[in-house]
Formats: sequence, structure tokens, C-alpha cells
Amino acid sequence: METGCLAAFLLPHCRHGTRSRIDPTSELLRSDPNMFRKGEPKAAERPDQCPPTPVPETSDLGELRRAAANCRACSLYKNATQTVFGEGGREADVVLVGEQPGDQEDYAGKPFVGPAGRILDQALQAAGIDRSSCYVTNAVKHFKWKPSGKRRLHEKPSAREIEACRPWLQAELRSLRPDIVVCLGATAVRAAYGKNLPVLKNRGQWIPSLLGPNTTITVHPSSILRAIDPAAKEKAFADFVTDLDAVAAALRSKPQSRPLPSRELF
Ligand code: SF4
Repeated sequence: METGCLAAFLLPHCRHGTRSRIDPTSELLRSDPNMFRKGEPKAAERPDQCPPTPVPETSDLGELRRAAANCRACSLYKNATQTVFGEGGREADVVLVGEQPGDQEDYAGKPFVGPAGRILDQALQAAGIDRSSCYVTNAVKHFKWKPSGKRRLHEKPSAREIEACRPWLQAELRSLRPDIVVCLGATAVRAAYGKNLPVLKNRGQWIPSLLGPNTTITVHPSSILRAIDPAAKEKAFADFVTDLDAVAAALRSKPQSRPLPSRELF
């Protein structure tokens, strides 16, 4: 989508606007109008051995963070050091959603402080996005890992764990009401859409999600670290920056005034 088109599409339904103009002819929605309904977890997929996700009725991020610290809504808390809640400015324009905390994040209690976080910072800078205008978080708030000698190897969260943790993500977004949500990789996409969507096929697209109307998709920065050689890594980084360029363009075209948002978006 070209930038001009994008701005017209995006901004009316962010917190700077009062009227939703989500494109109802979006390819994805047209091809699968029940996508959100289909994405809701079936009874058998819900975490039945665990208590409900204890999200308090508040938009206070500090309160949400304190409540999440005691979450036991899936079993991931058992092997993790701590809950890693999102972090960033209360007035963040962009919320970047990753997968889950990694080894370093688990110890630090902060998201995106490891190698993937450094790639993300570099890409944001290259795209001209002020890091302070972003809030970074993860679809799943506890580190899932398996032992390998002295190392803790990352394990992908299950659909059930993603579903269990989504209420925290939605609570963060209700509180922040950002202009834009960026899904970084497959787990964030699963959390945003309630189903798996191919990341590479949909990257750079603006597709309304369970997290908000102005949602876009790109890769997780850790995928750049896994590129097989320097040339592939350079290309992967450039492609990542291209996706973030579109986010930067949308932010640049936003109005200056900020009318109160509609909570109905969520
Ligand atoms: S991963 Fe999410 S749902 Fe599971 S215990 Fe941690 S905070 Fe709760």
C-alpha cells in the first residue's frame, strides 16, 4: 500500500480520530469474514488446569504490571524468573509486540534488552522512529525454555499459552490506546488474530486485528540474527527497516490534535 493511501486508511480510526474507516474490503477479511470468530479458543483449547487470567479492571499500567507479576494462568511462570511486562511511554504512539521474553529479558525483567532488542533499536533508528514514542511488549509474558547443558534454550509458546496471556496484552493496549500496533513475528500474529497467518506473506500489510484496527505485521528481529550469512542478514535487516518505514510514514502523517479515543476499538 502506498503511503498516501496508508495515511488515509490509518489515521481516522486511531486515537486522533473519532470515526472508524477500516477498509471492509481488506483481502484477508473478504476471503475469510469469520476470521476473528474462528480465532476464538475452543473450550478444549482453553487452559483448564489453570486459574483465569487475573486482569484487573483498570487502565493503570502500574497496577496491571503488579497484577501480572502474580499471574498463574498457564504453567509458564513455574520455570521463569519473573513476569516480563511491557515497557515504554504512557503516551506511546506505537506498540511493538514480540513473542516472549528471552534469556536476558527473563533475568532483567525488561522486554527487548537482549540481542533481538538491539536489532530492534537499530531498525527503529534506521526508520526514523523515536524509540521513546514506542512501547514494547510481548504476546507471552513469561520465558518458556528447556535446559541444554548450562544453557536455557528458547521454546515457542503454545497456542494455549498465547490465548491465556492475550488478556494482558489487550489490557496494555486498552490502557495505551496507541495509533499503531506492530506484530513482530508469528507468535504476536497468533495473539493478534487468534489464528496463524503466514508472516512473510502478510508482512507490511495493514490488517485490523483483535488488538486494534491499525495493526501491521513484520518479522521478529531475532529472525535477522538467525540469517545464514552476512549478505542474508543485511537483506533481512533492510526488509525489516522497510516494514518499519511504513510505520514511520503513517506516524508522520498523523494530525497534531488528539481527540479522546473510543474504547469500542477494543
Ligand atoms: S505466560 Fe502469561 S498467562 Fe501464562 S502465567 Fe505468565 S503472565 Fe500468566
